[in-house]
Formats: sequence, structure tokens, C-alpha cells
Amino acid sequence: MSQPIIQAKNLDFYFKDFKALDQVNINVPQGSIYGFLGPNGAGKTTTIRILLDLFRASTGEISVFGKSLKTDRDEILGRVGALIENPSIYKHLSGRQNLEVVRRMAGVGKRRIDDVLEIVRLKDNADKKVKNYSLGMCQRLGLASALLTDPDLLILDEPTNGLDPSGIIEMRELIKTLNKDHDKTIFLSSHLLSEIEKVATDVAIIDQGKILYEGKLEGLKSGNDIQELRIELNDSTKALALIQGMNFTISDSNTHYIELPIESREDIARINKALVEEGIDIYQLKTSSENLESVFLNLTNRLDQ
Ligand code: ATP
Repeated sequence: MSQPIIQAKNLDFYFKDFKALDQVNINVPQGSIYGFLGPNGAGKTTTIRILLDLFRASTGEISVFGKSLKTDRDEILGRVGALIENPSIYKHLSGRQNLEVVRRMAGVGKRRIDDVLEIVRLKDNADKKVKNYSLGMCQRLGLASALLTDPDLLILDEPTNGLDPSGIIEMRELIKTLNKDHDKTIFLSSHLLSEIEKVATDVAIIDQGKILYEGKLEGLKSGNDIQELRIELNDSTKALALIQGMNFTISDSNTHYIELPIESREDIARINKALVEEGIDIYQLKTSSENLESVFLNLTNRLDQ
């Protein structure tokens, strides 16, 4: 397998005393659409800012295109296009004029403007003032701007946020086309599982600053590694504290049962042993494979949707 386009190892990041990222590892395969999925406040934007060298991680290593972000920053960032929330766009200028501003700063040939307008399907509206654009058109203009330097890697932070259904479909199709026909590796963050599921080849789930899963989308869907364990017992109070103390996340419980995601059969044995040792009566232990939706919901349990 070829080297990942982005490889981040053990990233920690603090806002004062608050640990926003905790040992984050990321491996973005070449040619992938890498979905970075997590609820609001999970740490997606913070991670993206670190990947773009806008924030510095307190510990950890990042390499992009096989080079260190620390020592080869400018070369790396020259090959990356980014669309982060609320791109800075001059509303009183047209789409084309906005691109012209960026083009001059980036030192790119004039012809590239028509190319990127064509790619994002804004050619017909290029000379309209941006104040008359829909949000979807603004997002596509932001993307056009990120494409001016013809980057190998695109980093998109919640590109469908706030868009109406047709805007979401357009952005989704655009992302697929950029990946397939223009050979862009795409790192895409979202809090919407439905979005990631429709476009991503690879996925990472982040919650409370920790990566809970990274791998192929199918791997997560098949439930090969992650299963839901349901424990039926006479009184769950003591068992809940015990299981939480073992660092498992409870997805559901009442007085007679507890449900939680587990990653291996060994987890079942460990939990069973701990409960029995505490003298807790277990009536049934049951596992089930899940679909992506419930895996995600159970893992994060705090999705805003
Ligand atoms: P969203 O989609 O809501 O932006 P996110 O996954 O991108 O969510 P981040 O913006 O990376 O999350 O925030 C991660 C955590 O860090 C959150 O708990 C957030 O409240 C906190 N945080 C973000 N920016 C700051 C800041 N400037 N100062 C202090 N805490 C911050």
C-alpha cells in the first residue's frame, strides 16, 4: 500500500487547560475521500487547523505528501486547497473578481479562473455580484478559490453546512467529480453521517477529541470489529459504574439491561468476569452487528441531529 497522503500521529491540543485533542491519529490514503465524522464540538475544526498549520499541536507529528509539516510547511501548503467554514468572500465583487483577487496572490495564470468556474459550475453566474449568490453558490465559489492552484489535496470543513437539499446534492456530486476526474484526495469533515456515507471511501470518527474509529467505510458498516453488547441483569446500578470504570461508553440502559459498543470478543469476557467477580447476577449476554448509523450514534451518543 502506498504511503498515506496525510499521516498524523498522537496529536494533542489544548485550549488553555481544556484538552481539545487527545492522541489523534489520522491516515488519509492517496486517492481517497476521507470522511472525518463527529458531532459538534468533537474537534474536527481544531484538527483541520492543525493540519493547515494554523494551530500547533502540543505533541505529535504530521507528515503530508511524505514530508514533515514542521520542516516543509510552504511546499506542503502549496499543494493543499482548503475550504474552511465561512470562506472570506467580498460580497460587493462578482465571483470572477473574487477569484481574480486570489489568483493574483497565488500567482496563477489567468486562464485557470475559467477552468475552476467550469469545474464548480459557476460559469453562467461568474459576473454576478456575490451578494446575489445563494449559500450553495458561495460555497462553490469558495471551492473554486481553493482549486485555483490545482492542489493535490483538498481539505473541506463541513462543506454542506447550511445548504438546502439541492445545494447539498450539488456539493456532493462536485466532491465525487473532483476525486474521480481530477485526481484530488479529499479530506472532508461533517457532523452528518448521511453525507459521509454517500461520498466517503474511508472514514474516521472523532468524539470529544478522540478518534473512535478509522478505516474503510465498509469495515464500519459490516460491524466486523464493533458490535453492540446487551447485558441483561437483575440490577444495573452497580454494573453501570463498574463498566464505565473500565472505560466503556454506555449507549443505553435501564434497571434490567445495559447496552454498549464493544470492539472484540475479549471485551465480552472482561466485562463478564468483572461483573461475576462483583457478585452481580447476569441473565443474558447478547451481541448484535450494527449498521453505520447505530455504530456512530452509539459511539458518540451525542449527535445533534
Ligand atoms: P463544530 O462543527 O461545532 O465546529 P468541531 O468538531 O469542529 O465542531 P472544534 O471547533 O474543533 O469542534 O472544537 C473542539 C472543542 O474545542 C470544543 O469543545 C470547543 O468548544 C472547543 N474550542 C474550540 N475553539 C475554542 C477556543 N478558541 N477556545 C476554547 N475552546 C475552544
